[in-house]
Amino acid sequence: MKLENTGFGTKAVHAGQEIDPATGALLAPMHMTATYCWTPEMRERYLSGDKEGIFTYGRSRNPTQNELQEKIAALENAERCLVTASGMAAISLAVLACAQTGDHIIAHKTLYSGTFKLFDQLFEEFKIDITYVDDFEEQTIAKAVRPNTKLLYAETIFNPTMGVLDIEKFVGAAKKFEIMSMLDSTFTTPYLIRPLEYGVDVVVHSTTKYINGHGDLIGGATVGNAKFIDKIRASIYQKLGPVPSPFSCWLMLRGLKTLHLRMRAHCENAMAVAKWLEGQPQIESVIYPGLPSHPDYVLAKKLYGDVGYGGMLSFVVKGGTQAATKFCDNLEIAKYCVSLGDCDTMVQQPPLMTHGMLSKEVREKMGIKDGLVRLSVGIEDASDIISSLEGAIAAIH
Ligand SMILES: *Cc1c(COP(=O)(O)O)cnc(C)c1O
Repeated sequence: MKLENTGFGTKAVHAGQEIDPATGALLAPMHMTATYCWTPEMRERYLSGDKEGIFTYGRSRNPTQNELQEKIAALENAERCLVTASGMAAISLAVLACAQTGDHIIAHKTLYSGTFKLFDQLFEEFKIDITYVDDFEEQTIAKAVRPNTKLLYAETIFNPTMGVLDIEKFVGAAKKFEIMSMLDSTFTTPYLIRPLEYGVDVVVHSTTKYINGHGDLIGGATVGNAKFIDKIRASIYQKLGPVPSPFSCWLMLRGLKTLHLRMRAHCENAMAVAKWLEGQPQIESVIYPGLPSHPDYVLAKKLYGDVGYGGMLSFVVKGGTQAATKFCDNLEIAKYCVSLGDCDTMVQQPPLMTHGMLSKEVREKMGIKDGLVRLSVGIEDASDIISSLEGAIAAIH
């Protein structure tokens, strides 16, 4: 089926999917095999340079991975996608394809903790320099840029403080100083925003989160133009070997069919929960980009107002760590864990969990108060999520 002019939901269901020619199966079978046997005819064709449809070894690629890459590329409106065994693999490969020893990267100061550790610890050993910035205003980047700057890096929505990146400024700075731009769009997914359409060069995802959406695997994806993605695939990807299992790819193909439905439900539920929490006297503040009280609300409305503000929100419980912990322990519907983007509502305490290794002083500078709780709002009924929250608030005292 031709998909160029179809809507997002139609692409989510159909892109990358072809009826299996061998059996007529609607969904192509996955192949749990490490290697692929060649006939003499295939050998001849391969050696003559015609490699179309010929697989060799499972570390290079697998057919289910190809299908998944086609689906994600269609959803992101990208030329190409490469899926990997984890989000961190996608980020590491993509960044290392831009910057090596002696190079310099400019990154936003608020990053996913794994990305921060990659930049701050491993890249330090690799002698790749990083400058962290508060924003991507032209003056800020003019001060930070060096002759060896190879990359601008940021996330669409910052975690756990839910700040919103000004994508137009980010792209503007990249173009002005002629530097590659790379954006982690895990929190937003192509349903909420397609950064390549704004002129971002490369988008990375932890597909572990909303893209798969069901909490049953770890995965990553990089999307961009054919030249960049093919360069990664041909070199660093083959050498480091973070290939995803065909089974993970198969599950992600299944998960993606409902991305639009899930994201709509996440956004609606998160908005209902955020509004309700804002009216509770025991809650000091609610941080959700869709609330007019959010410092980036005007920007968020411009970028996300037509589709929704995502499923992630944070709030501060009055009474510090003790009250927040009691709240979490009594939040019946939510699982207490560090991931996000699943059908299930999940709750975590950034000052104890994801940001527990930082000192209280550093945390407070980042806007992470002791009573901060992060909620990944699931797709259960909003009324049930809210009554659970009500019960957990009542249990504090
Ligand atoms: C989880 C996450 C990652 C890392 O992905 P993994 O799949 O856990 O390797 C990167 N960026 C963001 C924003 C994430 O939430």
